[in-house]
Amino acid sequence: METTTPTATAEREAIESVPKGLFVAGQWRPTEATMPVEDPSTGEVLCEVADASPAEAMPALDAAAAAQADWARTTPRERSEILSRAFELMIAETERLALIMTLEMGKPLAESRGEVAYAAEFLRWFAEEAVRIDGGYMTAPGGGSRFLVTKQPVGVSLMITPWNFPLAMGTRKIGPAIAAGCTSVIKPAAQTPLCTLAFAELLTRAGLPDGVVNVVTTGQADQVMSPLILDPRSRKLSFTGSTGVGKHLLELCAKTVMRTSMELGGNAPFLVFEDADLDAAVDGAMLAKMRNIGQACTAANRILVHRDVAEQFAEKMAARMASLPMGRGTEDGVVVGPLIDDRAVAKVTGLVADATERGATVHLGGSAHEGPGHFYPATVLTDVPPEAEMAHTEIFGPVAAITPFDTEEEAIALANDTPYGLVSYAFTQDLARGIRVGEGLEAGMVGLNLGVVSNPAAPFGGIKESGLGREGGFLGIDEFLETKYIGIRV
Ligand code: NAP
Repeated sequence: METTTPTATAEREAIESVPKGLFVAGQWRPTEATMPVEDPSTGEVLCEVADASPAEAMPALDAAAAAQADWARTTPRERSEILSRAFELMIAETERLALIMTLEMGKPLAESRGEVAYAAEFLRWFAEEAVRIDGGYMTAPGGGSRFLVTKQPVGVSLMITPWNFPLAMGTRKIGPAIAAGCTSVIKPAAQTPLCTLAFAELLTRAGLPDGVVNVVTTGQADQVMSPLILDPRSRKLSFTGSTGVGKHLLELCAKTVMRTSMELGGNAPFLVFEDADLDAAVDGAMLAKMRNIGQACTAANRILVHRDVAEQFAEKMAARMASLPMGRGTEDGVVVGPLIDDRAVAKVTGLVADATERGATVHLGGSAHEGPGHFYPATVLTDVPPEAEMAHTEIFGPVAAITPFDTEEEAIALANDTPYGLVSYAFTQDLARGIRVGEGLEAGMVGLNLGVVSNPAAPFGGIKESGLGREGGFLGIDEFLETKYIGIRV
C-alpha cells in the first residue's frame, strides 16, 4: 500500500476528480451560489461546490419521489448486485477517496484509508442483506384466518450526515436504503461535501438508476432541509449529528409523523478496573480516544480508572500520547491531524481551562498551537473532577480526561451520570465483573476489553439522548422497511 506523502499534483487531481454540482436525477446541476471547502490543516480553500437554495434543492426530492415506485419494484438481486459493484469500485479507489477525505476533513491518510474500508463494508454487508428480507406466515390463534407478514420499502428517505466520518456515515444510510428499495436525498455536512459527491459518482458507475440517490450540498441546512422534511412525499429521515440538532429535527418530523433514525452525540465512559491488563487498557484507550483525532461520537470522553492503578495508567497513556506526531494528515506518519475548525479548537481550549481551574493536572499538552491550521496537541489530564464541564459535554478533541474511582458501584454510577448513552468501554480480566458491568452500563453499545465497537455487521446506535434506531447489523435494513400484515380469511 502507498504510504508516501502525496504530491501537490496528486492532491489537485483528487479534488478535481470530484463533481461539484448537485446530483439530481442522475445529472450534475450547477447552482447560482457556490460555497468553499477548506483544508482544515491549512485553512486554504480546496474548491467551491454547489450551495443549493431551497428552490434548487426541491428537484432532488422530486427526482427521488419520481424514481421510488420503479425502484421498489426492482428485484433484491438487482439491488444487491449494484451494491456489490459499488463495494468493488470503492475498494479499488481507496487511495483517491482517502486523499479527498484527508484534504477536506483533516484526519491522517491511514485513518482515511480505514474509513474507506469501513464505508465500503456497509455496501458489501447490505448487498448481502438485500436478498434476505424476510416475512412470515401464521395461523390466527382462534383459526379462521391466516396472517401473511411482509416487509416493504419505507419510501423516499432523507439523510443528513456530519463531517467527522464523511464517507462512512453516508454508506451506512445509503447502503441499507438501496438494499431495501428506497430512494433518497442525502445532504452531507457543509464542511465535507466532497466524499459524498465522489460516492454518488461512483454509484452511477456501479449502475444505480437515475434518481435513486440524489445529493444536495448547501450552506443553509435548516432552510433547505425543513421544506423537504415537511413534504408529505418524504417518509423517512435518517440523521447523524449532534443531539441538539437531532431534537430539533425530531420536532419537525413529528408534524408528519415521519419515521426517524437518530444517531446522535455521546459522552462515552471508559472504565479501567484494578484487575485490568493495563497495557491492553492503554491500547484500547488510545484507539477509543485518538481515532479521528478524538472527533468521534464513540470517543472515550471520560476515562474512569480505579485509584490503585490511576497513576500508572496515566503515565503509560501520557508516554503513548507524547509519541504521536502531529501535522497535516497527508504527511507520512502523522497521527494527530488538525481539528475541523477554529471553533473546535476554541471549545477544547475552554474545556481544558475549565478542568484545570477545577483542580485537574496537565500531564501532557494542554494548549492550542498557533495556526495555520486548526491544531490542538495530544493532551492528558488527571484528577479531572466529575463536575468539570468536559465530563458533561463531548470534548471532540485529543484530550484524555482521567478521573479516579474507588468501587465498582461508584464507577457504574459515574459512567451512567449523563443523558447520553451511545457507547461505554470497560477493561477488566474478571469475566463475571465484565458481564455485571456490561449489563449495568446505560449504553446502546459496550466495548468489553475492546477500544473500537464500530463494525458494519453489528447494530450501531445509542439509547437515552444518543438516539433512536440502529445502523448496520441485521437491524440496519429494517430502518428502511415497513412491516405490512395481510389478513386472509380461509
Ligand atoms: P451537527 O452540527 O448536528 O450537523 C450534522 C448535520 O446536520 C450536518 O450536515 C449539518 O449541516 C446538519 N444540520 C445542522 N443543523 C441543521 C438543521 N437545522 N436542519 C437540518 N440539518 C441541519 O453535527 P456535527 O458537528 O456535524 O457532527 C458532530 C456530531 O455528530 C457530534 O455530536 C457527534 O457525536 C455526532 N455523531 C454521531 C454519530 C452516531 O453514530 N451516533 C456518528 C458521528 C457523529 P451543516 O454542515 O451545514 O451544519
